[in-house]
Amino acid sequence: MPQELMPNLYRLPVPLPDSPLKLLNSYVIKGGDRDLLIDTGFRRPECYESLTSQLAELGVDMARTDLLLTHLHADHCGLAPDLVTEGTRVFISRGDKPWLMRDWSREDWIASGERMVRFGFPRDTVEHAFHQSPAHSMAPSKDFQNYQPIDDGDEFSCGGYTLRAVCTPGHTPAHMCFWMETQKTMFTGDHVLFDISPNITTWTTVDDSLGDYLRSLKMIDAYDVQLALPGHRETGNFHARIAALLSHHEKRLAGCLEVLRENPGLTTYDVAGLMRWKIRCSSWEDFPMGQKWFAVGEAASHLLHLEACGLARGDRTDEVIRWYAQ
Ligand SMILES: [Zn+2]
Repeated sequence: MPQELMPNLYRLPVPLPDSPLKLLNSYVIKGGDRDLLIDTGFRRPECYESLTSQLAELGVDMARTDLLLTHLHADHCGLAPDLVTEGTRVFISRGDKPWLMRDWSREDWIASGERMVRFGFPRDTVEHAFHQSPAHSMAPSKDFQNYQPIDDGDEFSCGGYTLRAVCTPGHTPAHMCFWMETQKTMFTGDHVLFDISPNITTWTTVDDSLGDYLRSLKMIDAYDVQLALPGHRETGNFHARIAALLSHHEKRLAGCLEVLRENPGLTTYDVAGLMRWKIRCSSWEDFPMGQKWFAVGEAASHLLHLEACGLARGDRTDEVIRWYAQ
């Protein structure tokens, strides 16, 4: 059911079946002439039915609604092509746009899986992961390609509100938050979540995604945010949460470094197996494949950041990267 947060501004909770994230927050601003919708949910019937019935309840007509996407992930933009009409403009950051339009063919996936092999992921499991990934099965249809690129500082006005795009790379190459200065309110997408730590993985086009993420966190801490509107679940104290996320990654980096000191020459996959994860599994071997994929990506982002800081070194002479503390 839509929840009115401010006059003409609503939160639309969209269920995410089979996802540990549980719920996506879509937001809509009713503007009279035109309305503005932020994020959509996966491309699957449960999300479509939930979102469209809530939009209908509010009398939102997609023919006079623009769609603003915080980032390229399928749970945020999966339904975009199914919602657009001739009158809909769809906006996403210039840096995330190519990733969104990428056609994740099986060959493409295997090529990107080669990186996972470099991180020590068993080769025969790479193809298996392909079948489990929402990037493959619930991503937006490729029939629609007419995304309008946005840059840091771009402004959107609707219903008396002005939203300014704030580029916050880290979770994705060019994730966007949207800042409403007058209301001291920020749509934080997946940059700041309150009861989950945003997943930080690696990207072929980014050297140090965790470094980017930590810098983006410190950067938005300077905004006087009184209300944060996150992409998933509930809100909370913005500045306290940033402090907690910074300290979470500091501890995780220290933990990684300790693992490397005790076990020189591990692969990224091995390091991931020795890190602590909030998942109900008795051992690393029991992790579902999709979760292992996330875990290895996250371990990689931490190791690459330690390397960028001069605290660790990846030996790349073999097919598989081996890690050492410096
Ligand atoms: Zn995301």
